[in-house]
Amino acid sequence: MADEASPTSPGILICMSTKTDCPFCGGERVLKSNEHAQVILSNPRKVPGHFLVIPKRHVEQPWDLTKNELADIFDLIFFIEQKIIGKLGDGCDVRQNYRPFLRQGELKVNHVHFHVIPRSLDDYIYQISEKYDAELFADLDKTEAREVAKLLQ
Ligand SMILES: [Zn+2]
Repeated sequence: MADEASPTSPGILICMSTKTDCPFCGGERVLKSNEHAQVILSNPRKVPGHFLVIPKRHVEQPWDLTKNELADIFDLIFFIEQKIIGKLGDGCDVRQNYRPFLRQGELKVNHVHFHVIPRSLDDYIYQISEKYDAELFADLDKTEAREVAKLLQ
C-alpha cells in the first residue's frame, strides 16, 4: 500500500505509512533486542557506528510509545553509547526526528527511530555541517520566550 497523505491544515501534509511497506518491520537487520525494542544499523549511515533503536511495534508518532517501549528503547540507547564511546567516537549524539511533512523514502522512515551517532571533536559531521550551527543561534527574545512558554500551559 502506498503512503497516505492527508491534509490537516493548509500547507501541512501528514504522511503515514503502514506496517507492510515499512523497512523496519521485517526484522532482518536486527543486531540486538530486548522485549520491546531492537537495534539496527542505519543504512545509509552518516558515520561508521550510526545505530538506530526502534520499537518492535510499528509506531509513527513518538508520543504513542508506551512507557515500557520507551524504557526498553533507552536501555538499548545507553547500552550502545557505552559500547561505542572510546571506540568509534569520544561522545555520542542521540536524536529523534519527527517530520510528518516528508514522505517515506531512503532518508526518511515513518517507524519511530532514535539515532545513536558516535561523535568526536571536529569530526566529519562537524566539518560538513555543524561548524555552521553557530550561525543559527540568536539571543532569546523575552516576548518570544513568553509566547512559546504559553504553548506548554
Ligand atoms: Zn514499521
